[in-house]
Amino acid sequence: MTEISREHPRYESLITREKIVEGVRIGITSKQGLVAQGRGEAFDYLIGERTTESAAFAERAAVAHMLLATKLIISVNGNTAALVPENLVALADVTGATLEVNLFHRSDARIHKIAEHLKSRGAGKVLGCKGDKRLDLSHDRAIVDEEGIFNADVVLVPLEDGDRCQKLVEMGKTVISIDLNPLSRTSLSSTVSIIDNVTRALQNMTQFAKDMKHDSRQSLRDVIVSYDNNKVISDALYAIQERLKLQAGERGIQWI
Ligand code: ATP
Repeated sequence: MTEISREHPRYESLITREKIVEGVRIGITSKQGLVAQGRGEAFDYLIGERTTESAAFAERAAVAHMLLATKLIISVNGNTAALVPENLVALADVTGATLEVNLFHRSDARIHKIAEHLKSRGAGKVLGCKGDKRLDLSHDRAIVDEEGIFNADVVLVPLEDGDRCQKLVEMGKTVISIDLNPLSRTSLSSTVSIIDNVTRALQNMTQFAKDMKHDSRQSLRDVIVSYDNNKVISDALYAIQERLKLQAGERGIQWI
């Protein structure tokens, strides 16, 4: 990987970029994944490259759902495998989730490579290789494992396609997404929409899960009942607007 100085003002963002490029180089991330990362970076810039209070609220609600789940799956694609493999494993460990590899640009070789990559970072069982069930969708993200996503009641889908997210919700599942675009179909259709960078979100969620793990089921339910997903999306749009105003003001541009 290219050497990047810690003093660089965009250090975190550049490191993330390098990890995705490395993911493509070793064959776990698709080239299209590079473009998706670019879109994410643009939204992260607009949000201010920080976890907003509202995103933290969504992360806590997501963890409450995860800790109450009967069958919990974390869906892994090529981008998350390259960016945050250790964080996926840590969150799965603390919440009792199973990881399932699920790819838009699917090939058996890439699925196995990602599963091995996760295992080398400490993952136990990794699903996704069987692909013995199909959701009612025209692309390959439809292919899932019966013992995994197909039968799960709660699914965490970091960086999901909008149409699969809608399909999982239609199937009656609780769907938690992580997507920096508050207006993507994914964010608009999820049960809990975490509008944060996957690199920050998974770390926060792991800490929340450690903190909340011994809470009573009733207090976890209370977190869920007090959660309003529409408000979280609206707060993200407001945060973007306020950040743009601030940035414009600092550069002498009048906000009309
Ligand atoms: P949808 O199908 O939900 O309308 P889309 O077509 O915009 O979404 P894709 O191109 O499938 O989305 O996936 C990219 C999405 O992932 C974008 O919304 C982008 O903001 C988001 N994204 C990319 N990288 C990250 C990241 N590191 N953290 C969080 N979100 C990210």
